[in-house]
Amino acid sequence: MPRSPRYTPIWEEQARKIRLLKDDLYMARRTIVELMPEKARSILNSYYETKSKEDWYRWPDQAAEQIIELCTDVTQRTYQGYLYEERAKCPLCGDGPQSFYDGHVGFKLPEGLRRHLTGYGRSRECSVFGAVRALGREHYQDRHKRLGEAPNWATMNPKSEEGHD
Ligand SMILES: [Zn+2]
Repeated sequence: MPRSPRYTPIWEEQARKIRLLKDDLYMARRTIVELMPEKARSILNSYYETKSKEDWYRWPDQAAEQIIELCTDVTQRTYQGYLYEERAKCPLCGDGPQSFYDGHVGFKLPEGLRRHLTGYGRSRECSVFGAVRALGREHYQDRHKRLGEAPNWATMNPKSEEGHD
């Protein structure tokens, strides 16, 4: 009687595929960071220095603050000679708000851009910053695994903690 061929169990095959996809996703996110100009890259890579849950909570706001400082090409709007707002496109992804009037001049500084970077409320989150936040979450999770503590996903994402969807 012929021996049946040796099959890899389907769950092993699926686990292998998931591992490969996770590796690919990690590399794609890292590539996004590597494509950024040097100053932005150094700010974005600072997620790696977060060591505690508190560090991790603070990181998006602190990094966003520094990214806002990188804005060039700031459009100043005046009314009767007085400056009433400054706007700039996102220094990471080049996006502006989805608005007919302001889309071409960018987000209002600093709050509009901060909301875009951190995905606050219903703002469309910056794709570059979002990729780095995902890297940061993984870094945080891995660190906890190494230390033998189970991370609590419900409290790991500052966005979900704020009660936004
Ligand atoms: Zn952006």
